[in-house]
This record gives sequence, C-alpha cells and structure tokens, in this order.
Amino acid sequence: MGFEWVSRQIGTDLVTADGSDFASLGLRSELVSGLAELGYEAPTPIQSAAIPEMLTGRDLLCQAATGTGKTAAFALPMLSQRAEGERGTRPTALVLAPTRELCVQVAEAVHRYGRPFGIRTLPVYGGQPIGRQIGALKRGVDIVVATPGRALDLLERGSLSLADVTTVVLDEADEMLDMGFAEDIDAILDQAPGQRQTVMFSATMPKRILKIAARHLNDPLRIEIAREVLPEGERPTIKQTAYIVARVHKVAALGRVLDIETPAAALVFCRTRAEVDQLTETLNGRGYRAEGLHGGMDQAQRDRVMARLRSGNAELLVATDVAARGLDIEHLTHVINFDVPAAPESYVHRIGRVGRGGKKGAAITIAEPREQRLLRTIERTMKQRIEIAKIPSSADLRARRLGATRATLAAACLDDDLGDYRELLGSLSSEFDLDDIALAAIKMAHLATAGDAGEVEIPQVEPARAERGKGARDRGRNKGGRDRDGSKESIRGGSIDSGARRGKGPRPGKQRIFISAGREAGIRPQDVVGAIANETDLTGSQIGPIDIAGRFTTVDVPAEAAKDVIAALSRTRLKGKRVKARKDRHE
Ligand code: AMP
Repeated sequence: MGFEWVSRQIGTDLVTADGSDFASLGLRSELVSGLAELGYEAPTPIQSAAIPEMLTGRDLLCQAATGTGKTAAFALPMLSQRAEGERGTRPTALVLAPTRELCVQVAEAVHRYGRPFGIRTLPVYGGQPIGRQIGALKRGVDIVVATPGRALDLLERGSLSLADVTTVVLDEADEMLDMGFAEDIDAILDQAPGQRQTVMFSATMPKRILKIAARHLNDPLRIEIAREVLPEGERPTIKQTAYIVARVHKVAALGRVLDIETPAAALVFCRTRAEVDQLTETLNGRGYRAEGLHGGMDQAQRDRVMARLRSGNAELLVATDVAARGLDIEHLTHVINFDVPAAPESYVHRIGRVGRGGKKGAAITIAEPREQRLLRTIERTMKQRIEIAKIPSSADLRARRLGATRATLAAACLDDDLGDYRELLGSLSSEFDLDDIALAAIKMAHLATAGDAGEVEIPQVEPARAERGKGARDRGRNKGGRDRDGSKESIRGGSIDSGARRGKGPRPGKQRIFISAGREAGIRPQDVVGAIANETDLTGSQIGPIDIAGRFTTVDVPAEAAKDVIAALSRTRLKGKRVKARKDRHE
C-alpha cells in the first residue's frame, strides 16, 4: 500500500495566509453559519487540512490528538455530505471510538454541528441498556457512534446493519488498539460495504496503526500537520507552567492561579467567542477586572477595551487567538491558556507575547486531564519543558495573602504620619490590650486588601504516567499487545509486570475480581482491560494488575467500582464467550 503524504507547514496564525477560513473549505453554508454561532473563528490546522480532502470522498489517515479539533474535522464533512438526500432507517455513517465518554462527546458534537439538517445521531456503548439502543436503531438513525464491543454485539444480534454505510470513521485508533479492540474492528469493518470512505484518526502512528490502515483503507491520503521548529534564539525563555484539573474546576483553578500570581496585566486565551464572553463575565463576578475581546467586536469596541487595559483599569484581557492577533501589549506579564491550544504553533504564538526584550514573563496553561497528550506534543515541538505544577492550595493562598498584608503594614509602620492616630490608640489602650488592638487592626487591613480567604480546595489530578520516562516505556511495551505464552502475566493499566502480584492481596482501596476464564480460553490482558473499560466508567490506568492463570483470571479494580465491573463482565463476552465474574475469595 502506498501512502501519499501531505505535510503542511502551518504558520503561526490560525488563519493561513491564503485566507483559509471555514467558508473556503467547501462545507455547506448552513454548517459554516452554525460554526460562527458557536464562536469558532477559524479552522484549526487539522480541520483546514482534512475537511476539503474528506469532502472529495477519499480515504484519510490523519495524525491528530484530542484537543486539536479533530472531531469537527471529520464530523463537518460527514454532515455536509449528508445534508440532503433520502433518510432511510439504516445508518449511512459509523464512527468507532474507544470509550463510552468519547462516544457521547462525539455524538454530541455531531448533533450540535448537524442541527440545521436534522440528522439523527445515536451513541451506542456498553453500560447502557441495550434494549433502548435497539429501539432507537429500529426507529431509524443516520450516524451511529459506537464503541467496538457494543457495535459488534448489536451487529451479532442483527439490530445494527452496516449495509447502507458509506462512511466509517475510526477515532483515536491507537487507543482502540491499546484496549484490545483490533479483532473487533476487523470483524466490524468486514461487515461494511467495500465501497465506502474510511477515515482514521490517531494521535500516534505506530506500525500497528499502519497495518490496520493498510487492511481497511483504500489508497489513503496521510495527513500530518508539519510542526514548525523555531530557531534556537527565537524560542521564548519564559517560565512555562501547566496545571491539570478536571473541567469543572477550571475556573476555580484559574482564580487561584491569578490570586497567587497577581499579574499586572494578563492575556487569557479561550478557544471560542462564547467562552470569552462567559469567562469574562465569571471573572468580573469574582472581583477581577476583566475585558473580553473577540472577532465579533467592531473597531471602536476593541479600542475601548485596549484603552482600559493600557490605563490599568483592566488587569485581564480574555481573547480568542484571532482577536488577539496583532495586539502588542507592552506591560503584559502573563499569558494564560484557559484551553490548551489546538496546535503547538498557536501555543508558541500565544506565549511569545510575554518575555519580550529580556523582560520576565510567565505562560500558564490550565489543562484538562485528557489534554495532557497535547501538552507533550507542544513540549516536543518547542523542545522546551512545561512544568506540571500543583494547584496552589488554600493554605498557599492564605500564606501569600498574609505576606501581602504584612508588606502593606510594614510599609505603613515606616510612614511618618502615624501621629494622627496616636490619640485614638491612647483611648483604645485604656480599654484593651495593645496586642488585641494590633491584631484587630491587622485583621481589618488584611480583609480590606485580600478579602475573605474562605477558599475551597481544588482536587489535584496526578499527571498521566506517560509524562514521566518510566510510564512511556511501560506503554511502549504494552503497545505490542504481546502474549507471553505459558507464563503468567500481570498488567496494570498499560504496563505488564509479569507475575509480580501473585500471592499478595490487592492494594488498599482495590477489590480483586475473579473471572472464570484464563489462558486456555485465549484471554489476554488487553481483552480484560478492553471489556472493563468499554462497559464501565473506568479507564485503563484504573484497571489492574491482571493475573492470567490457565483457567481463570484475576483483576484488581477500585473497590467502589467492583459491583459495576462484575455486572459488566457478566453481561459481556470475553473472546466471544460468556464468563462468570465475582469478588475473589482468596485474597
Ligand atoms: P477535539 O480535538 O475534537 O476534542 O476538540 C477540542 C475542542 O475544541 C472542542 O471543545 C471543540 O468544541 C473545540 N473546537 C474545535 N474546532 C474549533 C475551532 N475551529 N475553533 C474553536 N474551537 C474549536
């Protein structure tokens, strides 16, 4: 199989020099207006590259991670192609995704973008009653977004038919292979018509991905976004930090970081206009002086915002990439990425606004756990490290605020105009201890400058293991999906540590589950991880160690998930066979 390579050099601007915007990609105009309403101002690099090619109907192999805008890169052309024409009962497009979470996310995005056409989208994944999915399929669906296990189950029951499918998308293909879905994918694609478009997205391109592409894709175009490597002298030398927090805690984390850093002037980047508006409002509601700037504003509004920032009346400017283009704010001390930018180039572009002319600057990124891979890609492109830091605790914040109060009071003590208050001190000291008077004054000064520090703790998310060298090696070993015949093997999340756990009980907080099939039934660690991850909320790293003996297997899972795991394993199949699962009695 020959791949045609498309390597596109992406400039530092999100809109490329030839004016590539959504309207020029060949999408239906209703979709383009919908995107404007969502606040998407320009396509991301993977969208500019993949959308026109996918619209031609050819097969694609795209390298893109979560956060690059890959979902829209395949969803928009898929919807554009289905805007008109007959709607039958059977689906015409199938998207396979590794996890239930991603399935729901992709289905939501497809539904959101495709609203003008009334295209029917259905997510199907393990863990949801299958009857409801069967009912929805019977009523008629255009696009099915499925995990491989559940798709196969529905195919075997005859509830899902791929006879009318003309587009298949494999999303996060490397993740699907890591979870042991290779055979399921083969079995599913064998049932799809030969005459179809197949598009594959993967964050990495190991040999196994190329092999599966060779088997299922027809003369694919390979799309890779060429990375811009900056010359040594031009690389920014500013301090770069990232905080990993769950999405729900992002605003709180941003507030905490702002309180600790107290920037004189910061530029906060968001991806969409809607996010700019929302975040500006939230920050103002929390007592910061923030101004929003996005492409929907006219020149007079922009000028007003910039004037407020220059005069120091605003300390935070919240903006999209496009709106911030060309801005030169002299006294900028911080760039904050409220979202990890979709392309390393835009990260470089964003943070290049501080630390100019030898001045000190800081670049801070608030990332969701799933965006860590994108951070690593940025580090590799820049050949610079982004330090993953712990969110400052409320104790850190309190210490910092007390420090500021101390400095204010110390400066006041050095003032020579304190005489005005001596009489007041005299009258108070006849009633109260001097210590108490001082403490009360300190408290008042502190509350006046720092406010009430009644802050809640923000839960820390541990950086992904692959962040550190060892984790990456472990993942690499597992990626081969090797079976070591005859030997007992243990797998913890992504890593095999042979036989190490036998004879020991599970770690605190874990429950060992017994499964009634083992090596003799052909069970491999990835089958167990795949079945559990597909059918429950657990991720690969929460599953394991796994011990595979001749006739049985044990796997450790978080104790609170044990019931779910047992139910999931009991209703699914491992290597095509029903198995029994229960709590292990021999711990
Ligand atoms: P994905 O890489 O598909 O997981 O997308 C990451 C996030 O980027 C999602 O929240 C999308 O809504 C958002 N997004 C995708 N394309 C764009 C765009 N062109 N402009 C702004 N945001 C986008």
